[in-house]
Amino acid sequence: MSPTPDRPTILGLDPSAGASPWAWALLDDARALVGAGGVAGRGEAVALALHLRPALVAVDAPLSFPLGMDCLEPSCGCRPAVPAPGRACEREVVRRGLGLFFTTPRSIIKPMVYQGVLLRRSLEAHGVPVIEVYPAAMRRLLLGRRPPRKGAREGQRRLREALAPLVPHLERLPEALGHHGLDALLAALVGWMAGHGLAEALGWPEEGLLFLPQGDALSRLTAEYTEGRGGGSSAGERLLCTQGVRGSNPLRSTTGGVG
Ligand SMILES: [Zn+2]
Repeated sequence: MSPTPDRPTILGLDPSAGASPWAWALLDDARALVGAGGVAGRGEAVALALHLRPALVAVDAPLSFPLGMDCLEPSCGCRPAVPAPGRACEREVVRRGLGLFFTTPRSIIKPMVYQGVLLRRSLEAHGVPVIEVYPAAMRRLLLGRRPPRKGAREGQRRLREALAPLVPHLERLPEALGHHGLDALLAALVGWMAGHGLAEALGWPEEGLLFLPQGDALSRLTAEYTEGRGGGSSAGERLLCTQGVRGSNPLRSTTGGVG
């Protein structure tokens, strides 16, 4: 495990439903990559979060069931509160032309949903703030509407290239983590944005919100990069000072399109 930084951090997690490891990435409040790696599963991910004590954990997986449901088992009597597929945040994502799996009893990522829900409950029980993020929106902002396949080497190379100006010490992301490591990093980045007023929250709070970058987030970060580097406090630090990543509710919902 990496040493515990003494400044606020954002932990990004990319869970897996099967036996493969979960990737994680830790950003500091200036968006620099502090560390990244893999953990064996949910238990180790919770232990890592308790060790690192980030200001926020941002997870690339559904963290809640549709309103009215307490599981995804067809045999259970629970039923969605509204006659529509999935959760409100997911319907909004699809309305914007982005793809995802609806959270329903027929979801092919049902095991992932259970992992996500249990992860959120564990973290919340330990007082660790956790949000669900949608890194695919960030990928689209960085690489355009038709990004190369994320599993392909070319796709990973282009994503690293696009991330390099935004994430100091990107070289700390091990190549061996592949696209899972990049997903964890994107999750952390969207989490950082949520803490800095650069993300919007979709959905119903009582059901579960999904955070994605605001449509102009990239240009704001790029402007900050060209202005803010080289000596003194970074623009990210200034943002942190004015808005506070530990603020009571920095994760405000706004309107506006993505991409
Ligand atoms: Zn149920």
